[in-house]
Order: sequence, then C-alpha cells, then structure tokens
Amino acid sequence: MSHTSIFRAFSQFNLQLAIAIPVLVAALGITWQTVDLISKLEYSTNESEHHRNSDLVRSAFNSLQAQISQVTVDNSYWDFAVENVASKNATWLYNNWGVTTGNENYIYDTSLIIDSKTGEPLAAFHNGEEIRTSTSDMFGNHFANVLAAMPAENGSPSVTSGFTQTPYGISVFAMSPIVAYSPEVQARNVNTAYLVFLKHISPAVIAELEKQYLIDGIAVSFGTTQADSHVRLDVPDGTPQPVVSWRDQKLGGSIARDLWRRASFSLGFLLAVLAGMAAACWHLLRRMIRSEAKAKHDAMTDSLTGLPNRLSFNANIGSLRSSGRSDFAVAFADLDGFKEVNDSFGHHCGDQLIQRVAGLLRELSPDATLHSRLGGDEFVVLFTGDKADQKAQIFSARLISGLARHFEFDGRIVSVGVSIGIAAADQEVADGSEILRRADIAMYRAKSNGRNQWCMYETAHDVERLRNNSIARDLRDIIRDGSIEVAYQPLIDPQTKLMNGVEALARWPSKMQPYVSPDQFIRVAETSGLIDALGDQILRKVCRDAANWDGMRVAVNISPIQLNNLDFATRVTGILKSEGFDPSRIEFEVTESVLISNFDRAQRIINQLKDCGIQIALDDFGCGFSSIGYLRKLDFDRIKIDRSITSKVTSSSDDLKLVQGVVLLAKSMASEVMAEGIENEMEAKLLHLAGCNGFQGYYFHRPMPAASLTQLHRAERTARRGLGDARIAIIEQRQA
Ligand code: C2E
Ligand code: CA
Ligand code: CA
Repeated sequence: MSHTSIFRAFSQFNLQLAIAIPVLVAALGITWQTVDLISKLEYSTNESEHHRNSDLVRSAFNSLQAQISQVTVDNSYWDFAVENVASKNATWLYNNWGVTTGNENYIYDTSLIIDSKTGEPLAAFHNGEEIRTSTSDMFGNHFANVLAAMPAENGSPSVTSGFTQTPYGISVFAMSPIVAYSPEVQARNVNTAYLVFLKHISPAVIAELEKQYLIDGIAVSFGTTQADSHVRLDVPDGTPQPVVSWRDQKLGGSIARDLWRRASFSLGFLLAVLAGMAAACWHLLRRMIRSEAKAKHDAMTDSLTGLPNRLSFNANIGSLRSSGRSDFAVAFADLDGFKEVNDSFGHHCGDQLIQRVAGLLRELSPDATLHSRLGGDEFVVLFTGDKADQKAQIFSARLISGLARHFEFDGRIVSVGVSIGIAAADQEVADGSEILRRADIAMYRAKSNGRNQWCMYETAHDVERLRNNSIARDLRDIIRDGSIEVAYQPLIDPQTKLMNGVEALARWPSKMQPYVSPDQFIRVAETSGLIDALGDQILRKVCRDAANWDGMRVAVNISPIQLNNLDFATRVTGILKSEGFDPSRIEFEVTESVLISNFDRAQRIINQLKDCGIQIALDDFGCGFSSIGYLRKLDFDRIKIDRSITSKVTSSSDDLKLVQGVVLLAKSMASEVMAEGIENEMEAKLLHLAGCNGFQGYYFHRPMPAASLTQLHRAERTARRGLGDARIAIIEQRQA
C-alpha cells in the first residue's frame, strides 16, 4: 500500500469514527432519554395512583367511621333512650336498636347497650337477633382504652370510633354515652349506659367500597401485611389499628407500554433520520476528502506525464532533510533540441516526446526514489541511500544512450539529446532549491562541454557560474553599445600563397577588462540566450569592415543555436540587404553539432541560405562524430579540417596517414578542403601534398584588426597589380 492510500485509508477511518461516534452518542442519548422519560412517567403515574388510592382508602374508611359515629350520636342523645335504658325496657331496646341490625344494607349490623357501671352489655343484637355476648368478646382487652378515648363531657353528646375484632369479623364501631336531651331527664339518670354500633367489614361491604371508589382487592387486617399498597387507619390510642391493603392497577405500566408503542415508532423514525443524516454527512465529507486529496495530488503532479512536479520534488527533499538525511543525489536532465522539435513538429509532437521521455526515466531507473518533471523539457531523478551519486551516474549514462535514437510520432522522425547535471547532497544542501541549483550548474556545464553528456557538480562550478554570470552581464552591455570587436584571419590560397578570403573572429572589446576568450563568451552567449543578438551585431560589423575589400570572401562563424532559429535565413538576408552587402561574399562556418539535434531543420535552413547565395563551410571537421551519411546530404562549399587533426600531420607516419584519410573523406564531400591552424611550413607542405587546397594559420597570418587587414589587402592588391607574378614569387620565397 502506498503512502497516499495509507493516508487515505487512515483519514477515511478517522472520518468514519468522526461521524459514527457523535451519531451513536446522539442515538444512545435519545434512546436513553426516551427510556428514562417513559420509566419516570411510569413510576410517577404509579406513584400518583398509589397516593390517590391511599387517600381514597383512607377517606372510604374515614367515612365509614364518620357515618357510624353520626348514627350512634343521633341514637344516644335521646330522652327516651335514657329512660328506657334506665328501666331496662327490653322491648324498646329491641324495637329501636335490635330490629335495625337485621337490615343488611344498614349503617350497622350489631348493637350493644353497655352498662357503665358493670362495663358489660345490658343488651346486644346482631343481624336482627338478640345475642349473648361480653365486652371482651367484642373489644378484647381494649374496651378500657375505648372508654378512655371518649371525650369526658357530662350531659352532652360525644362519640369515639375505631375498629375491633369481633366473633363476626373485623368491624368498625362507634360508641356514645346515652345522654338525655332534656336536663330534667338527665338529672334523673346520670351516666346510665353506652350505646355501641358496629358494622362488620364483610365481603359485601368490601365489594361496595371497591365499586364506589374504583379500587381493587381491598382487604382489612390487624397487624402486619405483605401487600405493597396499604394504609394504617387512625384509631384511638390503645385500640387495634387496622391495615387496609388493596391492589394498585399500576396504570403507569400500561401508559408506559402504550407510550413505548408510540415512541418506538417515532424513535425508530428519528434514528432512521439520524442514520440517514449520518450517511449523507459521511458521503459528503468523503467526497470533500477525496476532492481535497485529488486537489493535493493534482497540485503535486505534472498533468502531462503524471510524474510528481517541482512542488513534490521540493517536498521530498524537505522530508529527507528534516529526517536528517543527506545520503541522496539528483540527476537533472534537460533535453537538447527539444525546442526545435516543438517548433518544427508542433506541441502535440513535443508532448508525446515528453511523455516518452518520462516513461524512459522510469524504465531506466527503477531504483530511483522519485522521478519528477520540473517543467518544459526539464526532469529530475532523485536517488537515495548508499552510493546515490553513483546510481545517478549510471542512470545518466543509460538515459543518454536511451535517447540516442530516433523516435517516431505520427509518422515523424524525431531525435533529441540530453544534458544531465548530477549533484550529491551534503550538509549544506538545506532544501530542494539548493540541490537543484547545483545540478543545474552541472547541467549547464554538460551543455557547454558539447551537450549529450552528464557532468558532476563541483564547487568550482559555482565560481565558474559566477564568472559566466558576470560575462553575460557584460555581454548585454556590449550588445547594447554595439562594442563587440571583430578580428580577421586571412584564408590562404596554396597556389598563390595570397589571401583569397578572411575568417571573421569575434573579440572581447579591448576596453573591457578582464579579457574573455571568444570560446568562453560565445558559450555564455549561447547559454544565456544572447547569441542571436550578438551574431547579428558581428554580421553587421563584418559587412561594414569588409565593404572595402574588393568583393573578397568573408567567413563568419555561426553558432548551432543561431542555425536552429527558423527565421535565421530571413534575419541574415535582412541584415545583408540593409548593409548593402553581397550575400555571395559571405560564407557561414557551421559545425557538425548543429546537425545532431535536428538534421532536417538544419538542412532546410542551410538550403535557404544557399538559395540566397551564401556559402556554407563545415568547420572543425574531423573532431565531430556525425555520420558521414548525414554530412553527405548537405551540400558544403568548403570543409575546414580541425587543428586537432592538421597538427598531427608532422608527428608520425601513422598520423600522417590518418590526416590523409580525413582529407580524402573531406574531398569526397566538397571540392575545397581547407587546413586550419597551420603553424609551420612543414605542416603547410604536407597538407598541401595530402590534397588541401586552402590554408589558415599563424604561419601565414594571425587574426588582426580590420584596419590591419585593410592594409594587408591593399598591399596584396598592389603586389598583384604592380609586380605581377614576379612579386608573388618574391612573397612566396619570403614565406618559404
Ligand atoms: P574556430 O572557428 O575554429 O576559429 C579558429 C580559431 O583558431 C580561432 O580562435 C583562431 O584564432 C585560432 N587559430 C587560427 N590559426 C591558428 C593557429 O595556427 N594556431 C592556433 N593555435 N590557433 C589558430 P579564436 O579566435 O580564439 O576563436 C575560437 C573559436 O571561437 C572559434 O573557433 C569559433 O568557434 C568561435 N568564434 C570566434 N568568433 C566567433 C563568432 O563570431 N561567432 C561564433 N559563433 N563563434 C566564434
Ligand atoms: Ca571557424
Ligand atoms: Ca575551426
């Protein structure tokens, strides 16, 4: 799994958590709240039902007590009652308080008339019958306490009520002293008796209570109870305290069940909405993360090749450095001749080439840490670990040979070279830009060394770079001021030993210090884009200097960069026209390197120039590597054999043979073959014998200022005219 996909997986995992956790918490929260709410509601409903039932039960029994107390008082506060109890009138007692106990639905079902002196019943009735009973049967040992609870108010009605266990069951009772309404009756009979009415709490009474108060399972007992719902009734001190229990319906439960039925639907709906929202959120965030990741990827990627771009390269170097590593090296590759491919075959073809090169980079350095396109035709490959610089060198050599072939795009044959700068990191390489700067310097070095090669960065290159920068600055001034100087070196006809032309050689202005050699400033002009302007200026100067030289041929050096310019021929003819200079007097010296990057184009431009009458010489022949087949396709007027070859002519017989071979080869391509750099007579003779029919060298003349050449030209003209062949013979002798 790559870093990015791990990152993506991780961030998606995080994202899932980031959404899932709050949603789960919310869902749990809502569910818990609902459960809590319903159970609280159930509890509080049950509680209030219980309290209500407690109150109802209490008031039911209170009203039983109140009813029976009222009836007891009504019956005991009565003159007749006092008289008939005192006279123990059994019939009266039965008629008034006995018969009434037989009525099933009546307030009382038992009555006792108790003698206050003996504390025992004078008469007792139950369910309409007279019964034999005692106070202890009816009240156990509580009777004294019942009596004690009675308010001690003589001569006025009073009552006490409570509950007791009788042989007939649990009963509510009320007891009042039988008192007279009239004081005179009372005066006759003081505290004769008590009237007690009892109503047994029979199943029928319970059923009636349950029906009236809507309470189930009412039961009355003395002592303890297991029932959850019960109340203890208020009774006089020392009398049995009944416990009334009942069954609560637990309405809360059914309300809760009902609520659950409704809530579970709403809750389910809510949770579904929540889940839907979470899913939408997740989807949205995932899309955001993806598009962010894509944007990040796009920002770090070159769209044409899919390779990481400069940003990504810098980030990689940054992370290497921040982890303290300096065991890395980069190979910075810049294509040679890419611009030409673009210009002549169009951008589509250029793009295809760039893509092919990107593929080649990957193929040729599978061990690299990063392949990156910085832009245009610039690529950089990063190597890390042990011997990173060696890996970069091996890769560079592979890339150079990998590109040394023709590519075909849409039927067009394309070829490019590559110059590569390699830089290895050290502690001073703080970031991507520093190592790139070094590799870039080395790459320029590779270019100025002749292109299509790699070069390793050295600290000395920095010094050179600075020097080149200063040369470039000076060159701009020179071009602006038009102060470039031109020296002329005569080209010699071996027959006459007189000059039959000159080569124009650019010179650093003498007023500018320090002196810079043409090799050096021409190279800087080429690499800093100044060569076209400089070349134009040199050509103008040449036209002016050579105006007086009687139609003599002038050879002008042309840089390969100039010749790659599609409008080169137009520029040149423009200058010649404006200077009024005859094109047939101009000979351009070109080197083989011009043919390397784009042969077809070079051929086209050379043909354009030839069409204008300009001659073309192949310079420095013998030290290049172009295929002779290619060279033969071009129609050169002259071939100049390089000094590195001609200087060998005197060293050994083998070298002589080599020189002869080169001259022969040159002669097979052009009628005129010129030997450069002749420094002595021997060289001149041998090269003449080998077949060279043109000479140039210090032995004849060094390059000289235009004024000196004008003098020389005049002198030679006078010699030709005035002295004729004899003079020429003298000159010949002198030179010999
Ligand atoms: P080149 O075109 O090969 O020019 C010939 C070089 O050989 C000149 O060096 C010349 O001074 C030198 N030379 C001539 N005879 C002898 C000899 O007997 N012995 C030795 N040792 N050297 C001899 P120079 O002027 O330093 O120019 C060097 C190069 O700079 C030229 O090589 C040419 O490639 C380039 N160059 C000079 N002027 C121009 C220019 O105007 N435009 C362009 N594009 N390149 C130029
Ligand atoms: Ca030359
Ligand atoms: Ca030359």
